[in-house]
Amino acid sequence: MKIAILPGDGIGPEIIEQAVKVLSALGEKFEMETAPVGGAGYEAHGHPLPEATLKLAQQADAILFGSVGDWKYDTLERALRPEQAILGLRKNLNLFANLRPAILYPELAGASTLKPEVVSGLDILIIRELTGDIYFGQPRGMREAPDGPFKGAREGFDTMRYAEPEIRRIAHVAFQAAQKRGKRLTSVDKANVLETFQFWKEVVTDVHKEYPEVALDHMYVDNAAMQLVRAPKKFDVIVTGNMFGDILSDAAAMLTGSIGMLPSASLDANNKGLYEPSHGSAPDIAGKGIANPLATILSAAMMLRFSLNKPEQADRVESAVKMVLAQGLRTADIHEQGCTRIGTNEMGDAVVKALA
Ligand code: NAD
Repeated sequence: MKIAILPGDGIGPEIIEQAVKVLSALGEKFEMETAPVGGAGYEAHGHPLPEATLKLAQQADAILFGSVGDWKYDTLERALRPEQAILGLRKNLNLFANLRPAILYPELAGASTLKPEVVSGLDILIIRELTGDIYFGQPRGMREAPDGPFKGAREGFDTMRYAEPEIRRIAHVAFQAAQKRGKRLTSVDKANVLETFQFWKEVVTDVHKEYPEVALDHMYVDNAAMQLVRAPKKFDVIVTGNMFGDILSDAAAMLTGSIGMLPSASLDANNKGLYEPSHGSAPDIAGKGIANPLATILSAAMMLRFSLNKPEQADRVESAVKMVLAQGLRTADIHEQGCTRIGTNEMGDAVVKALA
């Protein structure tokens, strides 16, 4: 099995090194090939997503991605900025399903801004549609308003739209994920106001007929935002569109306290995927050896489960992370009194040791 390793910028190379260490310690025969992406791609080949990098990503069974971006590229034209690499990969590989688990390990309950009893033991999965919705809908632009009360004034406009096959495929991903977990799925919409989400609700309800063992409920996005901070443990799997998912998944991320702990997967129709931590390239701490590599290591565990069909190895990695936390080892971002503060490399080594 071939894994494309795309470390990227900032802390990307440091955290990816730890995940590669962990993957190499599993005793599996993975072929891993590294290529530059983001600012590193621009420096090496004049483009954030060089042709050879895209080709490698297309050929591989899975992609392990660090992070891209640095303030020093802010003056480049938009098409050449590092962040375009991730958008290009999603589009070219048709990665339409974004899976973001939000898990709060009991040892880290104090790291959340919410009361420990509200979040301790939290384990939810947010599935966000990633390639449609108002972010990609056409037409869009800025113009002189052609009608309405502000006719003739300058206006900005976007188009929210979802086609039935787009909704069906993300609904299948969500029902199948729920089947493997607590068998509860909440579809988040705004069906009371938006035609697009009235349609979304109808299609999800129809797909539900194929998964009678999963309990489905529907929730408006404003209520979902409230419930996420009021009683997040009531959720099991949430499925929603691109824009609502963008907002809700970041809110859910914060429930767990540290962005350094959150993995993510973006999958195509055949479960080929790109796996990356939910955080960015953290230029403020790059090169200092203090970044938390656990989100990337947990992303590698998701890769083992979803794309490489090695669920038992995924369990091993996740158990090793839990063991390291139980041992009181912490990087700076999750450090608390009474724990041992360690660096990026030491955290990678500790997970490898715990695997054994
Ligand atoms: P960020 O996630 O990089 O950093 C936010 C804060 O969290 C910083 O204080 C950082 O030090 C800290 N942090 C992030 N990851 C950490 C880790 N693993 N361990 C410890 N602390 C960590 O977000 P930002 O500062 O808004 O963005 C920095 C750059 O990253 C920008 O160029 C942005 O465009 C890019 N970015 C890239 C991705 C991606 O590659 N998918 C995602 C988000 C942001």
